[in-house]
Amino acid sequence: NNMLEIKGLKVKLEDEDKQILKGVDLTVGAGKVHAIMGPNGSGKSTLSYVLSGRDGYEVTEGSATLGGEDLLELEAEERAALGLFLAFQYPVEIPGVGNMTFLRTAVNAQRKARGEEEMSAADFLKVIRAKAKTLKIDADMLKRPVNVGFSGGEKKRNEILQMAMLEPKMCILDETDSGLDVDAMKLVSEGVNALRDAGRGFLVITHYQRLLDHIKPDVVHIMADGRIVKTGGPELALEVENNGYADILAEMA
Ligand code: ADP
Ligand code: MG
Ligand code: MG
Repeated sequence: NNMLEIKGLKVKLEDEDKQILKGVDLTVGAGKVHAIMGPNGSGKSTLSYVLSGRDGYEVTEGSATLGGEDLLELEAEERAALGLFLAFQYPVEIPGVGNMTFLRTAVNAQRKARGEEEMSAADFLKVIRAKAKTLKIDADMLKRPVNVGFSGGEKKRNEILQMAMLEPKMCILDETDSGLDVDAMKLVSEGVNALRDAGRGFLVITHYQRLLDHIKPDVVHIMADGRIVKTGGPELALEVENNGYADILAEMA
């Protein structure tokens, strides 16, 4: 059971009296790709941050579970070990830590948390080289410090490489397409599609329908003002592309 289940989730900023999520209900089943679209400032990134365990937010009501485990009770690393992966809108740079070393540490930490044996250096090298190749990540990018001096597109491809290496149960992609040119978006989409699997769910946050031409969602949600206000199939993304959010929001009001 790798299902992500969010019920009545309300979140405010820790340091300010500002409510951001106002009751989010969302269930993503294993094998499913759900997209979340919505105007800027509607709380999409906040939702992904809260699920991944980032500091600065306070959950005032509701629940979030992955495979029945209460995510909100766990530290960020424990959530990752449980199989939650978040690809950030702005991937972090880690000066001084080689990309490959970082990935090997992350993979082995996760295997350890799952009670599995470490991957041998030789096996790791074989796997990472193969996955890097499909994402057009060259040997030099694997050696350089994590994301330092990487272009926007390289950072996003590197995020997908991390995801591919960690083999998570639930992947959240927060505007992984923003700032990508068409070729980079295709590579990223192909990387995601290669990971689609009956046991793995995806939550794809995006502003643009064009990403959803490449990563075909099963379900599309529209988020506005801290809530999911509409849910439908892929046609909902096309409706947004053609008419913007105004019609949907007016319909809700
Ligand atoms: P989206 O990803 O949909 O654009 P966000 O989750 O980034 O929306 O933001 C939702 C709202 O919460 C916005 O009004 C944003 O300004 C506010 N917000 C989110 N995080 C913070 C923060 N750390 N400090 C102040 N305001 C924040
Ligand atoms: Mg935004
Ligand atoms: Mg955002």
